[in-house]
Amino acid sequence: MNQDLFNQHDFIKQIVYKVMRKLKVNDAAAIHPQPFPIGISNRHVHLSRQDLEILFGNGYELNMSHKISQTGQFAATETVNLAGPKGCIEKVRILGPIRKQTQVEIMRSDKYRLGVDPPVRDSGDLKDSGAITIIGPNGSVHIDEGLIISQRHLHMTPADAAFYGVTDGEFVQVKAGTSRGITFDKVLVRVREDFVLEFHLDIDEANAAGVENGDGAFLVTLKNKPTEQNDIIALSLVTEDRVRQAWKEKKPLYIKKGSITTPLAKDTAKELGVELISL
Ligand SMILES: [Zn+2]
Repeated sequence: MNQDLFNQHDFIKQIVYKVMRKLKVNDAAAIHPQPFPIGISNRHVHLSRQDLEILFGNGYELNMSHKISQTGQFAATETVNLAGPKGCIEKVRILGPIRKQTQVEIMRSDKYRLGVDPPVRDSGDLKDSGAITIIGPNGSVHIDEGLIISQRHLHMTPADAAFYGVTDGEFVQVKAGTSRGITFDKVLVRVREDFVLEFHLDIDEANAAGVENGDGAFLVTLKNKPTEQNDIIALSLVTEDRVRQAWKEKKPLYIKKGSITTPLAKDTAKELGVELISL
């Protein structure tokens, strides 16, 4: 090995070590270095126009308490009570705006309080889901379907999806937490132009992992994930040739902070779909 190659090898080891230390995990090679924030959901209700009016009165409009992270969504000041065969849960928050179909999202621990057994589902996938009674100040509604436990999911834009190398509808693994950290399996990737990058868990799941709102979580499953630590080669100069080599090897390029990427390399990466990942 000549001296230059030796120095480069040493340098790579240093970068890998730094990344591992930053992530505080031992399997850094399989984890994307760029975290995304965790958003924790409590149990909540989305209402149809018809059900809103039964529960609160004709022509009723929800009042906004505060905006929530996803564009256009808000927590309403209004709450309802949920009643199941075994018990009740009071003051369950309504999230606006109104939807085509009423949807009630509870946590796994709630099903014992209520005496119900809804399926784990993606939002909006309500066929043959659970039944529940919703009680408002003006009346009550029994829904035969619409009660679910939310499938944990990861919101992102198409640009985020390209960055992380994932696609809409794909299931990935996400690592969250440190001292009691958990790698969550079956995290549904949901891609839409107006989504805000965020990993959504409910309170049961967040408590199990010991995480708080806004903590960082990491994508574990990468299509082009480095198989060996030494596959992470941090470059200080990215040339067109290096991009073409990465394309042949079907690997992303890991780029050192402050490095130079030539305009031709940028164009080539875009053209060939080679991921450029900043460390
Ligand atoms: Zn969500």
